[in-house]
Amino acid sequence: MGDDGRGSCGGEDVSDVDCQEAVRQLYVYLDGELTEERRLQIAVHLDECGPCADAAGFEAELRAVVSSRCKDRVPDSLIARVAAAIAAEAAHSDPGRTSGIA
Ligand SMILES: [Zn+2]
Repeated sequence: MGDDGRGSCGGEDVSDVDCQEAVRQLYVYLDGELTEERRLQIAVHLDECGPCADAAGFEAELRAVVSSRCKDRVPDSLIARVAAAIAAEAAHSDPGRTSGIA
């Protein structure tokens, strides 16, 4: 253990979590898949570190928007188009089984 354990935000008392770790855990944190202890550590870091809090806030907001959009309206037309595209692709990549319709 010799590398510099300094976060870029010069925290003195920022628990065990530095900025790199906080950002790395951010997604897991937002997914709520961290242990309670770990969550708390990240939360404390976010509380004391503006840049990381900003990043977390932005990410959380983004997720909220995305998931609410997705829930609100997955348009049927989009689903139909995706299904059609998949079907078309499947038909295209069909191995040379189409012997003779022409
Ligand atoms: Zn930080």
